[in-house]
Amino acid sequence: MDQPMRKERFPDMNLKDTLARAVAGEPLAHETLAFLLSLEDPRDLQALYRAAYQVKLQLVGNRVRLRGIIEVSDICRKNCYYCGIRRGNSNVDRFEMSMDEIMAAARHAAEFHYGSLVLQAGERTDARWIDFMTDALRNIKTIGNGKLGITLSLGEQTAETYRRWFEAGAHRYLLRIESSDPELYAKLHPADHRYAVRLQSLRLLREAGYQVGTGVMVGLPYQTVDNLAGDVEFFKSLDVDMIGMGPYIVHHRTPLGQQFPEIGSDTARQLELGLKMIAVTRLHLRNVNIASTTALQALAPDGRERGLLAGANVIMPNIGDVAYRKGYQLYENKPGLDENAETQRRNLERAIGSIGESVAYDEWGDSPHFAARKKNAEA
Ligand code: SF4
Repeated sequence: MDQPMRKERFPDMNLKDTLARAVAGEPLAHETLAFLLSLEDPRDLQALYRAAYQVKLQLVGNRVRLRGIIEVSDICRKNCYYCGIRRGNSNVDRFEMSMDEIMAAARHAAEFHYGSLVLQAGERTDARWIDFMTDALRNIKTIGNGKLGITLSLGEQTAETYRRWFEAGAHRYLLRIESSDPELYAKLHPADHRYAVRLQSLRLLREAGYQVGTGVMVGLPYQTVDNLAGDVEFFKSLDVDMIGMGPYIVHHRTPLGQQFPEIGSDTARQLELGLKMIAVTRLHLRNVNIASTTALQALAPDGRERGLLAGANVIMPNIGDVAYRKGYQLYENKPGLDENAETQRRNLERAIGSIGESVAYDEWGDSPHFAARKKNAEA
């Protein structure tokens, strides 16, 4: 961050009072969000995480929602400056799972009682891909009579494609804005990856009927604490149902990684920033689903559990074929590359139990926020 996060900027802020008001549900102003995101003293941070956890227990409970991730393909038409599978990285083994492989992974999820899936891939808009994913969705919906909930994370598409995939069985869509600040967004992407198109896509997804999720990277080059506070305000203004965000982890075969090889290498700081964003997002957005992402686990072995204790309530274990995971590296040193789905399930259950939480098996796990919005719309 190019702006020091000094508590001195907020001489009138009292942490105890601020957290008490946040837990009680008072709206948080930009300065308050920036103040909380600027905390650095370990005792202050613990107080922040405790407050966020209290709100989580009250509004979404302590049962962790699982989404088994299937990384369907690492082929991507885009060239985001931070991403390891960008089109311009010729050092990636490109793959696309077959329909049989996708179905085998989806059946695994059902056998493990995961309740919900995420289908994730690089961004592609060719007709063959759109048809293939439509067929995959229809096929997955035949398992157990439609018992698996399906989230998509397949990038920017047309309104027609969003509608087709929704009708084929998907009901949630995650499209990260990466940074809600248009200037920072422009620094992270080539000129033809337009912020306005991203924003419009998020609107189209809501119109198509999806539960919409977004998120950002945390600890990026150029990023300030005001950018992050603005991101949390952006989530709220979009009235999203779910958040998937994580610390920026450098990939050295990317333009951003080569320009700033050191930024992101302070793992303790990146983890702390990621946890602060989860906690502040929980305090501000209250009853949404928030993922404790694999990127946290890449920074510390217990990173995902710490994410849960800072207010997250969703974990997305990888259930795709181990053979493909080394190809799908958005960032370096991604954990779980060699773990098969069964080992991962057992480790995850143990880790979640160790912090006094349990797994919500066989549930789609929609956020209470979505349920409330739906009820309001029907009233
Ligand atoms: S971030 Fe997504 S859209 Fe951008 S290059 Fe990576 S996979 Fe493609």
